[in-house]
Amino acid sequence: MTRLLLIGPPGAGKGTQAERLALAFDVPAISTGDIFRYNVTNNTPLGLEVKSFMDAGAYVPDSLTNAIVADRLKEADAANGFLLDGYPRTTDQVAELDRLLVSGGTQLDVVVLITADTDEVVARLLKRAAEQGRADDTAEVIRHRLDVYAEQTAPLIDVYSARSLVVTIDGLGAVEVVTDRILAALAERGLRPDSSTL
Ligand code: AMP
Repeated sequence: MTRLLLIGPPGAGKGTQAERLALAFDVPAISTGDIFRYNVTNNTPLGLEVKSFMDAGAYVPDSLTNAIVADRLKEADAANGFLLDGYPRTTDQVAELDRLLVSGGTQLDVVVLITADTDEVVARLLKRAAEQGRADDTAEVIRHRLDVYAEQTAPLIDVYSARSLVVTIDGLGAVEVVTDRILAALAERGLRPDSSTL
């Protein structure tokens, strides 16, 4: 059973690392951003509701986000662990996740904080914009997303640090190198993948 959170600024490489770690630990990578994007692409009622927030680089309201995660964590594949990528991002979301975990009789193992300096993440996001054309990857929206992260999400690091859950990983470098850093830090905390799929 492995229950992990990935926190870090937009562009730090959370999504890429989440996929790799999920494979290694054989748990689902649950990305609220991916869930929202899927709904926007498919024009679902949820997608229509969240699109304007996402396009502006603003957070989707906690009530909506929390409900999505509560539903997703109830699915069978999350019963034996999960990796949350991009959730929680606000103190209200932390409270909701705490509630969900308590009601499921479980707790988090580790919070992985992936760091990257601002110039680097802006460069990465602009590159992704050119490659994938994400609507929220324009220079102006990127700046706003970084501000929102600093204001609303960076404070969560203190919350989880006070619980001694945070491991801080330098997100600069090749994808495999960063994964190795994370795996080494998790191993120090007694978390080792059973599979060697990487
Ligand atoms: P991401 O792919 O994680 O960068 O998320 C893309 C966008 O989805 C964010 O800029 C927000 O608009 C929205 N989003 C994703 N996760 C959350 C969350 N936990 N709380 C609020 N909004 C979110």
